[in-house]
Amino acid sequence: KPPIVVRELAEQLKLKPFKLIADLMELGVFANVNQAIDESVAQRICAKYGYRFEVEKRERGSGIIHAPIKKIEVDIEDKPEQLKPRAPVVTIMGHVDHGKTTLLDVIRKSDVVAGEAGGITQHIGAYTISFPHPERKNELQQITFLDTPGHAAFSAMRARGANVTDIVVLVVAANDGVMPQTLEALSHAQAAKAEIMVAVNKVDHPNANPMRVRQQLQEKGLVCEEWGGKTLFVDVSAITKQGVDKLLEAILLQAEIMELKANPDRRAKGNVIESGLEPGGPTATVLVRKGTLHLGDVVICGPFYGKVRALINEENKRLKEAGPSVAVKLLGLNGVPEAGLEFTVEENEKEARDIAEKRTMEARAMGQEARAKVTLENLFATM
Ligand code: GDP
Ligand code: MG
Repeated sequence: KPPIVVRELAEQLKLKPFKLIADLMELGVFANVNQAIDESVAQRICAKYGYRFEVEKRERGSGIIHAPIKKIEVDIEDKPEQLKPRAPVVTIMGHVDHGKTTLLDVIRKSDVVAGEAGGITQHIGAYTISFPHPERKNELQQITFLDTPGHAAFSAMRARGANVTDIVVLVVAANDGVMPQTLEALSHAQAAKAEIMVAVNKVDHPNANPMRVRQQLQEKGLVCEEWGGKTLFVDVSAITKQGVDKLLEAILLQAEIMELKANPDRRAKGNVIESGLEPGGPTATVLVRKGTLHLGDVVICGPFYGKVRALINEENKRLKEAGPSVAVKLLGLNGVPEAGLEFTVEENEKEARDIAEKRTMEARAMGQEARAKVTLENLFATM
Protein backbone atom coordinates (compact mmCIF):
# COMPACT_ATOMS: atom_id res chain seq x y z
CA LYS A 1 0.00 0.00 0.00
CA PRO A 2 1.25 3.49 -0.73
CA PRO A 3 1.92 5.82 2.22
CA ILE A 4 -0.63 8.45 3.23
CA VAL A 5 1.37 11.64 3.10
CA VAL A 6 0.26 14.64 5.15
CA ARG A 7 0.56 17.04 2.21
CA GLU A 8 -1.60 14.86 -0.04
CA LEU A 9 -4.24 14.31 2.59
CA ALA A 10 -4.38 18.06 3.25
CA GLU A 11 -4.84 18.66 -0.47
CA GLN A 12 -7.69 16.20 -0.74
CA LEU A 13 -9.40 17.63 2.30
CA LYS A 14 -8.80 21.15 0.99
CA LEU A 15 -7.01 22.08 4.22
CA LYS A 16 -3.93 24.17 4.72
CA PRO A 17 -1.13 21.74 5.64
CA PHE A 18 -0.41 23.53 8.92
CA LYS A 19 -4.06 23.12 9.90
CA LEU A 20 -3.83 19.40 9.33
CA ILE A 21 -0.56 19.25 11.28
CA ALA A 22 -2.29 21.00 14.18
CA ASP A 23 -5.18 18.51 13.97
CA LEU A 24 -2.67 15.68 14.06
CA MET A 25 -0.98 17.14 17.10
CA GLU A 26 -4.32 17.11 18.87
CA LEU A 27 -4.38 13.38 18.25
CA GLY A 28 -0.85 13.08 19.63
CA VAL A 29 0.65 12.53 16.18
CA PHE A 30 3.66 14.65 15.27
CA ALA A 31 4.43 14.73 11.59
CA ASN A 32 5.65 17.22 9.00
CA VAL A 33 4.11 17.74 5.56
CA ASN A 34 6.28 15.13 3.90
CA GLN A 35 5.71 12.38 6.41
CA ALA A 36 3.24 9.55 6.24
CA ILE A 37 0.56 8.81 8.79
CA ASP A 38 -1.34 5.66 9.72
CA GLU A 39 -4.59 4.78 8.02
CA SER A 40 -6.45 4.85 11.36
CA VAL A 41 -5.25 8.41 11.99
CA ALA A 42 -6.22 9.48 8.47
CA GLN A 43 -9.64 7.98 9.08
CA ARG A 44 -10.15 10.07 12.21
CA ILE A 45 -9.06 13.23 10.44
CA CYS A 46 -11.40 12.55 7.51
CA ALA A 47 -14.31 11.88 9.84
CA LYS A 48 -13.68 15.20 11.57
CA TYR A 49 -14.19 17.00 8.26
CA GLY A 50 -17.17 14.93 7.20
CA TYR A 51 -15.39 12.65 4.78
CA ARG A 52 -15.20 8.93 4.71
CA PHE A 53 -11.71 7.60 4.23
CA GLU A 54 -11.23 4.90 1.68
CA VAL A 55 -8.28 3.52 -0.19
CA GLU A 56 -9.01 3.78 -3.86
CA LYS A 57 -8.09 0.95 -6.15
CA ARG A 58 -7.28 1.74 -9.74
CA GLU A 59 -6.69 -0.88 -12.37
CA ARG A 60 -3.65 -0.12 -14.45
CA GLY A 61 -2.46 -2.69 -16.96
CA SER A 62 -2.57 -6.03 -15.22
CA GLY A 63 -1.72 -4.75 -11.75
CA ILE A 64 -3.69 -2.76 -9.27
CA ILE A 65 -2.30 0.42 -7.84
CA HIS A 66 -3.60 2.21 -4.81
CA ALA A 67 -4.22 5.89 -4.80
CA PRO A 68 -4.12 7.46 -1.37
CA ILE A 69 -7.67 8.45 -0.57
CA LYS A 70 -10.93 9.10 -2.22
CA LYS A 71 -13.67 11.42 -1.14
CA ILE A 72 -16.83 9.42 -1.25
CA GLU A 73 -19.46 11.09 0.71
CA VAL A 74 -19.58 14.55 2.05
CA ASP A 75 -21.82 14.64 5.04
CA ILE A 76 -20.59 17.55 7.01
CA GLU A 77 -22.21 18.00 10.38
CA ASP A 78 -24.39 21.07 10.25
CA LYS A 79 -23.50 23.82 12.67
CA PRO A 80 -26.31 24.97 14.98
CA GLU A 81 -26.40 28.42 13.35
CA GLN A 82 -27.02 26.83 9.94
CA LEU A 83 -30.17 25.08 11.11
CA LYS A 84 -33.52 26.61 10.18
CA PRO A 85 -37.00 25.50 11.28
CA ARG A 86 -38.59 22.94 8.98
CA ALA A 87 -42.12 21.56 8.59
CA PRO A 88 -43.10 18.40 10.45
CA VAL A 89 -43.48 15.21 8.42
CA VAL A 90 -46.59 13.32 9.47
CA THR A 91 -47.82 9.80 8.77
CA ILE A 92 -51.39 8.75 9.52
CA MET A 93 -51.69 5.16 10.66
CA GLY A 94 -54.39 2.94 12.09
CA HIS A 95 -56.72 -0.01 11.67
CA VAL A 96 -58.38 -0.60 8.31
CA ASP A 97 -61.63 1.33 7.81
CA HIS A 98 -60.99 3.63 10.76
CA GLY A 99 -60.91 6.56 8.33
CA LYS A 100 -57.28 7.23 7.36
CA THR A 101 -57.99 7.90 3.69
CA THR A 102 -61.05 10.04 4.41
CA LEU A 103 -59.12 12.05 6.97
CA LEU A 104 -56.15 12.58 4.63
CA ASP A 105 -58.61 13.87 2.01
CA VAL A 106 -60.20 16.33 4.40
CA ILE A 107 -56.80 17.54 5.60
CA ARG A 108 -55.64 18.09 2.04
CA LYS A 109 -58.63 20.37 1.52
CA SER A 110 -57.73 22.34 4.66
CA ASP A 111 -54.78 23.84 2.82
CA VAL A 112 -55.33 27.60 3.08
CA VAL A 113 -53.10 28.45 0.13
CA ALA A 114 -54.15 25.79 -2.37
CA GLY A 115 -53.33 27.26 -5.77
CA GLU A 116 -56.00 28.33 -8.22
CA ALA A 117 -55.92 24.71 -9.37
CA GLY A 118 -57.89 24.43 -6.11
CA GLY A 119 -57.80 20.80 -5.21
CA ILE A 120 -56.92 19.44 -8.66
CA THR A 121 -54.05 17.42 -7.37
CA GLN A 122 -52.11 14.40 -8.39
CA HIS A 123 -51.08 11.62 -6.11
CA ILE A 124 -47.34 11.63 -5.52
CA GLY A 125 -47.25 9.88 -2.14
CA ALA A 126 -47.07 13.02 -0.06
CA TYR A 127 -48.50 16.51 0.12
CA THR A 128 -47.79 19.68 2.02
CA ILE A 129 -50.45 22.01 3.38
CA SER A 130 -50.22 25.47 4.89
CA PHE A 131 -52.21 26.18 7.99
CA PRO A 132 -52.36 29.15 10.40
CA HIS A 133 -50.30 28.87 13.56
CA PRO A 134 -52.67 28.09 16.48
CA GLU A 135 -51.74 31.30 18.34
CA ARG A 136 -50.24 33.62 15.72
CA LYS A 137 -53.04 33.27 13.21
CA ASN A 138 -51.43 35.41 10.51
CA GLU A 139 -48.40 33.15 10.47
CA LEU A 140 -48.77 30.23 8.09
CA GLN A 141 -47.05 26.97 8.93
CA GLN A 142 -46.51 23.98 6.74
CA ILE A 143 -47.14 20.31 7.42
CA THR A 144 -46.12 17.49 5.09
CA PHE A 145 -48.29 14.38 5.11
CA LEU A 146 -47.14 11.08 3.68
CA ASP A 147 -50.08 9.38 2.04
CA THR A 148 -48.70 6.20 0.61
CA PRO A 149 -51.20 3.38 0.77
CA GLY A 150 -50.63 0.69 3.37
CA HIS A 151 -47.77 2.60 4.98
CA ALA A 152 -45.54 1.03 2.35
CA ALA A 153 -43.03 3.84 2.47
CA PHE A 154 -43.09 3.98 6.24
CA SER A 155 -42.22 0.29 6.50
CA ALA A 156 -39.68 0.40 3.67
CA MET A 157 -37.91 3.29 5.28
CA ARG A 158 -37.93 1.70 8.68
CA ALA A 159 -36.47 -1.44 7.13
CA ARG A 160 -33.66 0.72 5.79
CA GLY A 161 -33.14 2.46 9.09
CA ALA A 162 -34.34 5.83 7.87
CA ASN A 163 -37.07 7.37 9.94
CA VAL A 164 -38.43 10.28 7.98
CA THR A 165 -41.64 10.62 9.98
CA ASP A 166 -41.59 13.07 12.86
CA ILE A 167 -45.15 12.56 14.02
CA VAL A 168 -47.49 9.60 13.69
CA VAL A 169 -51.19 10.31 14.00
CA LEU A 170 -52.81 7.13 15.19
CA VAL A 171 -56.39 7.03 13.93
CA VAL A 172 -58.86 5.07 16.04
CA ALA A 173 -62.55 4.91 15.16
CA ALA A 174 -64.57 5.89 18.23
CA ASN A 175 -67.28 3.33 17.47
CA ASP A 176 -64.87 0.47 16.98
CA GLY A 177 -62.13 1.18 19.49
CA VAL A 178 -58.60 -0.18 19.53
CA MET A 179 -58.15 -3.04 17.08
CA PRO A 180 -55.23 -5.36 16.16
CA GLN A 181 -53.83 -3.06 13.46
CA THR A 182 -54.10 -0.11 15.84
CA LEU A 183 -51.62 -1.86 18.10
CA GLU A 184 -49.47 -2.89 15.17
CA ALA A 185 -49.31 0.71 13.98
CA LEU A 186 -48.53 1.83 17.51
CA SER A 187 -45.57 -0.49 17.80
CA HIS A 188 -44.27 0.59 14.37
CA ALA A 189 -44.49 4.22 15.43
CA GLN A 190 -42.75 3.52 18.72
CA ALA A 191 -39.97 1.58 17.02
CA ALA A 192 -39.47 4.50 14.63
CA LYS A 193 -39.24 6.82 17.65
CA ALA A 194 -41.87 9.12 16.17
CA GLU A 195 -44.01 11.34 18.38
CA ILE A 196 -47.44 9.77 18.63
CA MET A 197 -50.73 11.65 18.67
CA VAL A 198 -54.19 10.13 18.59
CA ALA A 199 -57.07 11.17 16.36
CA VAL A 200 -60.24 9.64 17.74
CA ASN A 201 -62.26 9.54 14.51
CA LYS A 202 -65.95 9.00 13.70
CA VAL A 203 -67.12 10.90 16.78
CA ASP A 204 -70.28 11.65 14.74
CA HIS A 205 -71.13 7.96 14.78
CA PRO A 206 -74.15 7.00 16.96
CA ASN A 207 -72.07 4.34 18.72
CA ALA A 208 -69.06 6.60 19.22
CA ASN A 209 -67.34 6.22 22.57
CA PRO A 210 -64.22 8.43 22.56
CA MET A 211 -63.59 7.85 26.29
CA ARG A 212 -63.33 4.12 25.75
CA VAL A 213 -60.57 4.75 23.15
CA ARG A 214 -58.65 6.79 25.75
CA GLN A 215 -59.15 4.02 28.29
CA GLN A 216 -57.96 1.32 25.89
CA LEU A 217 -54.87 3.24 24.85
CA GLN A 218 -54.05 4.14 28.44
CA GLU A 219 -53.66 0.42 29.02
CA LYS A 220 -51.05 0.48 26.25
CA GLY A 221 -49.13 3.33 27.82
CA LEU A 222 -50.60 6.23 25.85
CA VAL A 223 -52.10 8.44 28.54
CA CYS A 224 -54.04 11.47 27.35
CA GLU A 225 -53.25 14.95 28.66
CA GLU A 226 -56.66 15.29 30.34
CA TRP A 227 -55.70 12.36 32.54
CA GLY A 228 -52.25 13.65 33.38
CA GLY A 229 -50.43 11.96 30.53
CA LYS A 230 -48.33 13.29 27.67
CA THR A 231 -50.26 12.14 24.62
CA LEU A 232 -52.46 14.52 22.67
CA PHE A 233 -55.87 13.05 21.82
CA VAL A 234 -58.14 14.98 19.44
CA ASP A 235 -61.74 13.98 18.73
CA VAL A 236 -62.50 14.30 15.04
CA SER A 237 -64.95 13.35 12.36
CA ALA A 238 -63.62 13.10 8.83
CA ILE A 239 -67.25 13.19 7.63
CA THR A 240 -68.54 16.28 9.46
CA LYS A 241 -64.99 17.79 9.60
CA GLN A 242 -65.49 18.46 13.29
CA GLY A 243 -62.15 18.69 15.12
CA VAL A 244 -59.97 18.56 12.00
CA ASP A 245 -58.67 22.11 12.50
CA LYS A 246 -57.93 21.23 16.12
CA LEU A 247 -55.98 18.21 14.97
CA LEU A 248 -53.86 20.33 12.62
CA GLU A 249 -53.23 22.86 15.39
CA ALA A 250 -52.23 20.05 17.73
CA ILE A 251 -49.76 18.80 15.12
CA LEU A 252 -48.25 22.27 14.83
CA LEU A 253 -47.98 22.64 18.60
CA GLN A 254 -46.35 19.24 18.85
CA ALA A 255 -43.93 20.18 16.05
CA GLU A 256 -43.05 23.41 17.83
CA ILE A 257 -42.14 21.49 20.97
CA MET A 258 -39.96 19.19 18.88
CA GLU A 259 -37.99 22.15 17.45
CA LEU A 260 -37.57 20.47 14.07
CA LYS A 261 -34.70 21.96 12.13
CA ALA A 262 -32.55 21.33 9.10
CA ASN A 263 -29.86 23.12 7.14
CA PRO A 264 -31.36 24.21 3.80
CA ASP A 265 -28.01 25.48 2.47
CA ARG A 266 -26.26 22.26 1.63
CA ARG A 267 -26.48 19.51 -0.93
CA ALA A 268 -29.82 17.76 -0.61
CA LYS A 269 -30.33 14.40 1.00
CA GLY A 270 -33.52 12.48 1.57
CA ASN A 271 -35.52 9.36 0.82
CA VAL A 272 -37.69 7.89 -1.88
CA ILE A 273 -41.36 7.81 -0.88
CA GLU A 274 -42.74 6.31 -4.06
CA SER A 275 -41.45 5.48 -7.50
CA GLY A 276 -42.70 4.36 -10.86
CA LEU A 277 -42.16 4.18 -14.55
CA GLU A 278 -44.07 6.72 -16.63
CA PRO A 279 -44.04 7.45 -20.36
CA GLY A 280 -41.44 10.18 -19.67
CA GLY A 281 -39.16 7.73 -17.87
CA PRO A 282 -38.54 6.68 -14.29
CA THR A 283 -40.03 8.90 -11.59
CA ALA A 284 -39.33 9.02 -7.89
CA THR A 285 -41.12 11.06 -5.27
CA VAL A 286 -38.48 12.05 -2.81
CA LEU A 287 -38.80 13.68 0.57
CA VAL A 288 -35.95 16.12 1.14
CA ARG A 289 -34.60 15.76 4.68
CA LYS A 290 -31.67 18.16 4.55
CA GLY A 291 -30.41 20.72 2.11
CA THR A 292 -32.13 21.96 -1.02
CA LEU A 293 -32.62 19.94 -4.18
CA HIS A 294 -32.30 21.96 -7.39
CA LEU A 295 -33.09 21.44 -11.03
CA GLY A 296 -29.90 20.24 -12.70
CA ASP A 297 -28.47 18.66 -9.54
CA VAL A 298 -26.83 15.29 -10.06
CA VAL A 299 -28.69 12.83 -7.89
CA ILE A 300 -27.64 9.35 -6.94
CA CYS A 301 -30.13 6.92 -5.46
CA GLY A 302 -29.16 3.31 -4.84
CA PRO A 303 -27.74 1.98 -8.11
CA PHE A 304 -29.33 4.77 -10.17
CA TYR A 305 -28.27 8.30 -10.92
CA GLY A 306 -29.09 11.21 -13.19
CA LYS A 307 -29.43 14.93 -13.58
CA VAL A 308 -32.67 16.37 -12.19
CA ARG A 309 -34.76 17.24 -15.27
CA ALA A 310 -37.93 18.23 -13.46
CA LEU A 311 -39.31 18.63 -9.95
CA ILE A 312 -43.09 18.41 -9.77
CA ASN A 313 -45.25 18.89 -6.70
CA GLU A 314 -48.67 17.47 -5.84
CA GLU A 315 -50.39 20.40 -7.52
CA ASN A 316 -48.61 19.47 -10.74
CA LYS A 317 -46.49 22.61 -10.51
CA ARG A 318 -42.94 22.53 -11.77
CA LEU A 319 -40.53 23.71 -9.11
CA LYS A 320 -36.98 25.00 -9.41
CA GLU A 321 -36.00 23.67 -6.03
CA ALA A 322 -37.27 21.79 -2.98
CA GLY A 323 -36.04 22.35 0.57
CA PRO A 324 -36.22 20.33 3.79
CA SER A 325 -39.50 18.47 4.52
CA VAL A 326 -40.74 19.04 0.96
CA ALA A 327 -41.80 16.09 -1.18
CA VAL A 328 -41.41 16.33 -4.95
CA LYS A 329 -41.65 14.02 -7.90
CA LEU A 330 -38.24 13.90 -9.53
CA LEU A 331 -37.55 13.12 -13.19
CA GLY A 332 -34.11 12.30 -14.49
CA LEU A 333 -32.94 9.10 -12.82
CA ASN A 334 -31.82 6.28 -15.10
CA GLY A 335 -33.86 3.66 -13.23
CA VAL A 336 -36.70 3.18 -10.76
CA PRO A 337 -35.39 3.24 -7.18
CA GLU A 338 -37.14 1.30 -4.44
CA ALA A 339 -39.16 3.18 -1.83
CA GLY A 340 -37.14 3.98 1.26
CA LEU A 341 -33.80 4.32 -0.54
CA GLU A 342 -31.72 7.35 0.32
CA PHE A 343 -30.77 9.86 -2.33
CA THR A 344 -27.82 12.22 -2.24
CA VAL A 345 -26.49 14.91 -4.54
CA GLU A 346 -23.03 14.48 -6.05
CA GLU A 347 -20.53 16.91 -7.45
CA ASN A 348 -20.81 15.81 -11.07
CA GLU A 349 -22.19 13.12 -13.32
CA LYS A 350 -18.94 11.22 -13.56
CA GLU A 351 -18.66 10.89 -9.80
CA ALA A 352 -22.30 9.78 -9.60
CA ARG A 353 -21.78 7.20 -12.34
CA ASP A 354 -18.71 5.81 -10.58
CA ILE A 355 -20.59 5.39 -7.32
CA ALA A 356 -23.64 3.92 -9.06
CA GLU A 357 -21.47 1.42 -10.93
CA LYS A 358 -19.64 0.48 -7.77
CA ARG A 359 -22.95 -0.12 -6.00
CA THR A 360 -24.25 -2.24 -8.86
CA MET A 361 -21.08 -4.32 -8.75
CA GLU A 362 -21.26 -4.68 -4.98
CA ALA A 363 -24.89 -5.75 -5.20
CA ARG A 364 -23.97 -8.30 -7.84
CA ALA A 365 -21.06 -9.60 -5.75
CA MET A 366 -23.30 -9.87 -2.72
CA GLY A 367 -25.83 -11.80 -4.79
CA GLN A 368 -23.11 -14.19 -5.91
CA GLU A 369 -21.85 -14.59 -2.38
CA ALA A 370 -25.35 -15.33 -1.16
CA ARG A 371 -25.83 -17.88 -3.92
CA ALA A 372 -22.49 -19.48 -3.16
CA LYS A 373 -23.43 -19.71 0.50
CA VAL A 374 -26.75 -21.29 -0.30
CA THR A 375 -25.02 -23.81 -2.54
CA LEU A 376 -22.59 -24.68 0.24
CA GLU A 377 -25.41 -24.99 2.73
CA ASN A 378 -27.30 -27.24 0.35
CA LEU A 379 -24.17 -29.27 -0.02
CA PHE A 380 -23.77 -29.71 3.72
CA ALA A 381 -27.44 -30.42 4.11
CA THR A 382 -27.25 -33.34 1.71
CA MET A 383 -24.12 -34.77 3.29
P1 GDP B 1 -59.17 3.61 5.96
O1 GDP B 1 -59.27 2.16 5.63
O2 GDP B 1 -58.63 3.80 7.34
O3 GDP B 1 -58.47 4.41 4.92
O4 GDP B 1 -60.69 4.14 6.09
P2 GDP B 1 -61.53 5.00 5.03
O5 GDP B 1 -61.11 6.42 5.04
O6 GDP B 1 -61.55 4.29 3.75
O7 GDP B 1 -62.96 4.96 5.72
C1 GDP B 1 -63.64 3.75 5.95
C2 GDP B 1 -65.13 4.03 6.04
O8 GDP B 1 -65.40 4.83 7.18
C3 GDP B 1 -65.69 4.81 4.84
O9 GDP B 1 -66.94 4.29 4.51
C4 GDP B 1 -65.79 6.23 5.36
O10 GDP B 1 -66.81 6.95 4.73
C5 GDP B 1 -66.11 6.00 6.82
N1 GDP B 1 -65.67 7.10 7.66
C6 GDP B 1 -64.45 7.69 7.66
N2 GDP B 1 -64.40 8.70 8.55
C7 GDP B 1 -65.60 8.73 9.14
C8 GDP B 1 -66.19 9.55 10.17
O11 GDP B 1 -65.57 10.46 10.72
N3 GDP B 1 -67.47 9.29 10.53
C9 GDP B 1 -68.18 8.29 9.96
N4 GDP B 1 -69.44 8.12 10.38
N5 GDP B 1 -67.68 7.51 8.99
C10 GDP B 1 -66.40 7.72 8.57
MG1 MG C 1 -57.48 3.75 3.18
